[in-house]
Amino acid sequence: MQFDPPRCPNSLCVAHHKPEGRWYLRKGYYQPACRSGPVQRYQCRHCLIGFSAQTFRHDCGDRKPWCNVPLFDYLTSGVGLRQSGRMVGLTIRAVQGKLRKFGRTCLGLHENLSSRLPGNRSFLLDEEETYERSKRWPLTMPVLIERETWFVVAVEAGPIRRLARKGSKMRALQDADEERQGRRPDHSRQCVRKVLELLRQRVGDAAITMLTDKKGSYATLVRGVFGDAARHETTAGKNPRTTYNPLFPINSTLAMTRDNNGRLRRLSWLVTKLCECLLRQTAIFTVYRNYVRQRFNRDPRNDTPGKLLKLVPRALQSREVLAWRQDWGGNSIDPMSCDARTTIRAMQSQVV
Ligand SMILES: [Zn+2]
Repeated sequence: MQFDPPRCPNSLCVAHHKPEGRWYLRKGYYQPACRSGPVQRYQCRHCLIGFSAQTFRHDCGDRKPWCNVPLFDYLTSGVGLRQSGRMVGLTIRAVQGKLRKFGRTCLGLHENLSSRLPGNRSFLLDEEETYERSKRWPLTMPVLIERETWFVVAVEAGPIRRLARKGSKMRALQDADEERQGRRPDHSRQCVRKVLELLRQRVGDAAITMLTDKKGSYATLVRGVFGDAARHETTAGKNPRTTYNPLFPINSTLAMTRDNNGRLRRLSWLVTKLCECLLRQTAIFTVYRNYVRQRFNRDPRNDTPGKLLKLVPRALQSREVLAWRQDWGGNSIDPMSCDARTTIRAMQSQVV
């Protein structure tokens, strides 16, 4: 594969922002342990740092890069970390390390691809409840989606304080925990505000409609973040969960999170140990849901939520999701570009 470095990887260098003329020199080859062929080295003529094609790839520094794609597929199919590790030949520690890196790349990729979203649309918001380590330490996981395409705009997670019935065994354990560690924080409002602010950043001042259930705090949070730009409609959460329910898309998306992420499944051995690990998992789920899987089973293979929102021209494959590093905003390399010549910004200007 032909590779020309698209920019200097040093974000402080002039050739990072405006790579013009002959800004780099070729500097021999090296043989990475994990690849069959030699890899070309380069040097920037402005800041003199050395780099190679590997510097631009997601799998830079990986010991077993060939495990990445099957591992991504297992982790977005509801398989636990240990079992995924057994199937691809990695230890649990290695799987945890890879999940951390997948989470970073997927978070960056989703941010870069959805930096602007169209306004004048309807969005749905609801919270899923889960826990870290034990049911004594519950977490909330607000999910915000677009109504027509089921595009997952944002997912957050944070601790909440839910005390069990007085006199129960669970309550005694919770009281003992709070005695030892102090009162458990409740970040439900902060988490919901965060996902709403994320949507606000992406739609700007455009008018939107927000659909939620009747939880009291949603009205003040929606008004606080969007002011008059949002029309807030509510539906009783107890209404039958049929396709006629206006909250059907978000109810189904939450069911999908439980299907695709083993740790959110009920009555399962899989469990989140730390809230931040759940966020890594939701980052890879968000990318899988938005850019890899089609919206509905009956839709053509390429009709992912991201394509229907005109953010990408087609569905991505798992190997494309994990192709290039994604920490340079719109200047990051387009995941569909084989030769690294197209940036995400350039790709999106061509999508119609
Ligand atoms: Zn440079």
